[in-house]
Amino acid sequence: MTRDLRRRAAIIAIYLAVTLALVWGVHAASYRQALSPLRERGEADLALTVDRLTSQMQRYQDLAVLMAAHPALRNLARQPASTELREAASDLLLNAADRTTALNIAYLSPTGELLAAARPETARTVASPAFRNGAEFRRALTGALGWGIGPSGTDGTRSYLFAAPSYAPEGGVSGVLLVAVDVDLLEQAWRGDNPAVWFTDPRGRIFISNRSELLNWTIGDGVLTPPDGGPLPFERRLIGDNEVWRAPLGNYVPDPALVLMRDAPQVGMRATALVAEGGAARIAMLQAAVAGLVLLAFGALLFWATERRRVLAVANALLENRVAERTAELSGANNMLRREVAERQEAEAALKRAQAELVQAGKLSALGQMSAGLSHELNQPLMAIRQFAENGTLLVERGKVDQAAGNLTRISELAGRMGRIIRNLRAFARQESEPARPVDLGQIVATALEMTEARLAKDGITLDWQPPQAPVQAMAGEVRLAQVMVNLITNAADAMADGPRRDLTITLTPSPRPTIRVSDTGTGIAQPERIFDPFYSTKEVGAAKGMGLGLSISYGMIQSFGGEIRGRNRKGGGAEFVIELPAVRDELAAE
Ligand code: ADP
Repeated sequence: MTRDLRRRAAIIAIYLAVTLALVWGVHAASYRQALSPLRERGEADLALTVDRLTSQMQRYQDLAVLMAAHPALRNLARQPASTELREAASDLLLNAADRTTALNIAYLSPTGELLAAARPETARTVASPAFRNGAEFRRALTGALGWGIGPSGTDGTRSYLFAAPSYAPEGGVSGVLLVAVDVDLLEQAWRGDNPAVWFTDPRGRIFISNRSELLNWTIGDGVLTPPDGGPLPFERRLIGDNEVWRAPLGNYVPDPALVLMRDAPQVGMRATALVAEGGAARIAMLQAAVAGLVLLAFGALLFWATERRRVLAVANALLENRVAERTAELSGANNMLRREVAERQEAEAALKRAQAELVQAGKLSALGQMSAGLSHELNQPLMAIRQFAENGTLLVERGKVDQAAGNLTRISELAGRMGRIIRNLRAFARQESEPARPVDLGQIVATALEMTEARLAKDGITLDWQPPQAPVQAMAGEVRLAQVMVNLITNAADAMADGPRRDLTITLTPSPRPTIRVSDTGTGIAQPERIFDPFYSTKEVGAAKGMGLGLSISYGMIQSFGGEIRGRNRKGGGAEFVIELPAVRDELAAE
């Protein structure tokens, strides 16, 4: 479980990491895209600013070149000591400075001596040795135009200088005309404009800017140095080929800002513009947020779906487990049932064996009951034989051979009768296990009657039995059916033993099914529904009396022939037992 939890946590973490990476990618792409129109506009603005500055400077440059060739200055160069000429030149320069709003215009000798100036009081700094050794002155001495950042005034005024040579008629540089441009004046026109723009000198110091608070800051590679403080590092970022700064340059300079740079070689400076990029960042943030939300929503949906699938899979596995358990239980139950079936079959076989033994026991019990009658039955002819034999002897002695022969015939008949009784008994005692076959019902009834004859005679029972004209056949076992008949006759005799009327009627009908009916005038059946139950008996228990097995065994035997046995009370008193047997099929009868 914990492993599964860890796995899911890892998947969520990976998904979040991928989402983060995608959000970052969307942010970067969208930021870059949003920056490009800003950059285009900013570059146009910057170009315009640079053009404006250079064109303004150009005016002063032209002024320097043109004025340098003025005759008044050339004359002064020839006679520098002339006060008159100096004053005339100074007037000329003042007039020109006033008209062009130049900060100052001065004329110097090639050695750097100040000959004339529009504003002599502020011109002193340019006549210093430092200036004489400066690049602008020396360049002018070579006959070219010198230009560069001039010295700042004591009040902080910044100047930009142009130095133009005046040529002597005989050749060579006779003097140098300096034009100092008032940078503050130039700035005034575009102060506060957007975007924030500045121009830095080759050392990185801001010399001109439309944000006056930035003047004299030095901007190096990732470091800002205010004029009166230590260096401050700032963050520079490259978004594609756009550079974005996060620099603390004051309230009026955008932060963060897109940085654009452009060289202004005409003035020997480099222009930088800072364009506010707030919109771009906001748009990029918004797009990234939307992408992030979509991805998170998708992830949540995906998570929900996989969770659901997982829960379903768990439920499924549980169900399958249950089904497997149930199947195992069922197959266990099935095995048990099979075992039970096998046991039952064994029990049935045992029952059959027991039944067969019971049948035999029943027969023996019947024999026991009949034994008294039988001994009488056998004794009687035996006594008669003895009498006939003794009489015969006397008759032979007396020479009455004919009469003696009569006696012998009687003896023979009696012996035959005894032989039949004994044969019947032997047949009765035999254990019969063959399947049912066609038997003659009249013959079987006669056999049963012969075996019970003595009993019926002893009890004084009247028998009504008409043997059929034609043999009635049915499917049965000869010995077993005889046993059933003996049982029914004996039961009838038992039931009539103490009664006033003792009539036993046996009928045989061939159709619709071969049927034997045994009815008596006895006590009737006490509990008709129980008579076929094993060990149900209303008689005294004992060898001579009932065991309660006779009818249940008879029932089993008739069933085994495919027949039916029923017992009921008759309307006029007494009981009637009916045996229906299967008829013999034609082909069997023909055999
Ligand atoms: P048993 O004769 O040993 O008692 P049976 O199974 O032959 O056993 O008979 C069961 C019982 O059915 C008898 O005890 C008796 O109560 C009843 N019965 C059978 N035949 C008759 C009959 N013909 N009349 C009245 N009752 C009978």
